[in-house]
Amino acid sequence: MTEKWSEYMQERFRNVEENLAEIRQKIAGAARASGRKPEDIILLAATKTVPVEVVNHAIELGVTHVGENRVQELEEKYDRLERERCSVHFIGHLQTNKVKNLVGRVDMIESVDSVRLAKEISRISMQHNVTTDILLEVNIGREESKSGVLPEQLEDLLGEIAILPGISVCGLMAIPPICDEKERLRNYFSLMSQYFVDIKRKKSDNVAMEYLSMGMSGDYEDAILCGANLVRIGSSLFGQRNYR
Ligand SMILES: *Cc1c(COP(=O)(O)O)cnc(C)c1O
Repeated sequence: MTEKWSEYMQERFRNVEENLAEIRQKIAGAARASGRKPEDIILLAATKTVPVEVVNHAIELGVTHVGENRVQELEEKYDRLERERCSVHFIGHLQTNKVKNLVGRVDMIESVDSVRLAKEISRISMQHNVTTDILLEVNIGREESKSGVLPEQLEDLLGEIAILPGISVCGLMAIPPICDEKERLRNYFSLMSQYFVDIKRKKSDNVAMEYLSMGMSGDYEDAILCGANLVRIGSSLFGQRNYR
């Protein structure tokens, strides 16, 4: 380790400490404003492009959940990640041929958006004799460019996926469109919340609506106010991403 590298790391560690304190305050405020307790909200650190040393520092500071987007990047960090002290989620777009790299290794796959993908997760999970927790990703803004199931398909797909062995549906995930007006953004979050509550009320077999994962650096307070209980935060916690 060169001195320069070590200085750079120290600086990043300090930034994470400061940022985390601020994020925790904001989460607590939004939780209380929506009639919940701060500890009801899970902060998941979105760790794409972040060196594993920095991720581990966040874990030392008490971050309990981390999320990776890319299978390859997850694999690069996996062995050095402080996994005993945190849950690892996969939050990116997942191709069926990569499912085998995740099953039995991650605690949750948040980004399940088709029956085909769910069937593959089921198949590999059965092979490994494990149950894989998943969230269904909803394309709440009906954007062509985004993955996720369309809202009107949600219940049908849920029915098909819930009966698969080796899979446990634990909730919903969404990434709403980029919105300039807060009003529009909150409408998307509220709509997700409605689906979440409606499905939860039906108490279907093998469907536990436990997690509503929505909200990122720019909008996590709005998401919490609308009912999210898992927020995925990257740049506000770790600083702007440097893509190599
Ligand atoms: C990168 C990413 C985030 C975090 O984004 P920020 O705006 O940096 O907080 C959340 N969810 C997913 C799926 C991501 O890919």
